[in-house]
Amino acid sequence: MNTPLIIVGAGHAGGRAALTLREEGYSGRLILIGDEPHLPYERPPLSKGLLQGSTDLAGYSLCDSDRLTELGIEHIAGNPVTQLQPEQHRLQLADGQWLPYAGLLLATGGRARRLPQEQANVLYLRTHDEALALRSALKPGARLVVVGGGFIGLEVAATARGLGCEVTVLEAGPRLAGRVLPPAISQALLDLHRQQGVEVRLNVALESIQADAVLLMDGQRVPCDLVVVGIGMQPNIELATAAGLEVGQGIRVDAHLRTSAPDIYAAGDVCEFRLDGVYQRQETWRNAEAQGRHAALNLLGRELAYDALPGFWSDQYDWGLQTVGVMTSTVASRELPGGGLLLFYLDTALRLQGACGWAPGNSVAKDIKLCERLISAGIPLNTASLADPELSLKHLLRG
Ligand code: FAD
Ligand code: NAP
Repeated sequence: MNTPLIIVGAGHAGGRAALTLREEGYSGRLILIGDEPHLPYERPPLSKGLLQGSTDLAGYSLCDSDRLTELGIEHIAGNPVTQLQPEQHRLQLADGQWLPYAGLLLATGGRARRLPQEQANVLYLRTHDEALALRSALKPGARLVVVGGGFIGLEVAATARGLGCEVTVLEAGPRLAGRVLPPAISQALLDLHRQQGVEVRLNVALESIQADAVLLMDGQRVPCDLVVVGIGMQPNIELATAAGLEVGQGIRVDAHLRTSAPDIYAAGDVCEFRLDGVYQRQETWRNAEAQGRHAALNLLGRELAYDALPGFWSDQYDWGLQTVGVMTSTVASRELPGGGLLLFYLDTALRLQGACGWAPGNSVAKDIKLCERLISAGIPLNTASLADPELSLKHLLRG
């Protein structure tokens, strides 16, 4: 039997990499190792459709078990990798067995950052099983406190309101999703959640969580039946760190997604790569999808530099948020029908670098696609034209 390619982490990036290896003609032994008991799945529905009860695991698995068997992908579930020896090209599983590898992908993702205090009424949301536990707790009339006004917090708040819960969001910072979103969109989110009956408190410092209330540092008491904590993600870097790989805020890779160890690549939430010269991680569906695929191609020796555009989306109530590219520089904005907003980020030569849109339903998707094409086109743009809602982006693309 030939020495296998092994993927550690059977989540989105790992699952995508395994499927890509077969699509690209790799016919050797292929092992996908996960610590969860499930087939590889996508996480976005965990805070949306699964909680609402409109979809289940089969609806967002990357493939079913028949397909894995058909493709000859050996899926080891519920048996995490506990040790990695890059010099020996081998790893060990929790059940003690050692496996040699010819090439390895680390796609170990991350876990929910936890509060120091554990409490029975406090839930987190990262995995399918955690989402199921939360779903059964979100009963109509339940008083829910959400700690963290980031994506988990806001999506859970929106879904819980739809299910008839009373919701309070406690955010430590001065605005919602403040690290990733521009102020105008944070404000739009705040307005929408308040309109939908969510009590949102900003600049909040938590004192402790009791069985029936959350206590704040300023002495206030927020009564509740249930607390959901969404205060960020901790990348699963421990395996790589213990193996002596270069690690920063994630597993460091070069332009090919190759780590500091021979024949080992990294992809997805755990991967720290250079974007515009700065090391960073992207915690998004789009990144897991693109890097999982890209790492697979490079495991096959393609030596391709990774240069995919970043981007993400969020759905809250019947509104959609979408971004593409890098949101750092000069901003122009246009109003969209229905009260939406589209922000454009330009470099000093007035070429589009990124865009962020917020609009009813999925209506912003078309504009964001056009923005993606404008970024690729690299043509200088006129900020007055960008701001003019009468001028179609298609027109600007034609120059
Ligand atoms: P993961 O999907 O976390 O997979 C990593 C897997 O590796 C996990 O199963 C983990 O348990 C396993 N693992 C870890 N260590 C080991 C080990 N030692 N051995 C074996 N297995 C191991 N992004 C968007 O762009 N839009 C959205 O709307 C959106 N919604 C989201 C909603 C929720 C509730 C969550 C949690 C995330 C959401 N995201 C969204 C982010 C997106 O889902 C993640 O960026 C993506 O899942 C990352 O994929 P990954 O494969 O890197 O990590
Ligand atoms: P997040 O997006 O990083 O947001 C965490 C929020 O919690 C931040 O606003 C943070 O404020 C706040 N916070 C931190 N500590 C706090 C405390 N003690 N009390 C109150 N607020 C506190 O992380 P997340 O929402 O937990 O999401 C986790 C992961 O899931 C991320 O990878 C995220 O990208 C992913 N996810 C993505 C989507 C999407 O893209 N649509 C949806 C759901 C989940 P400061 O910034 O001021 O610290």
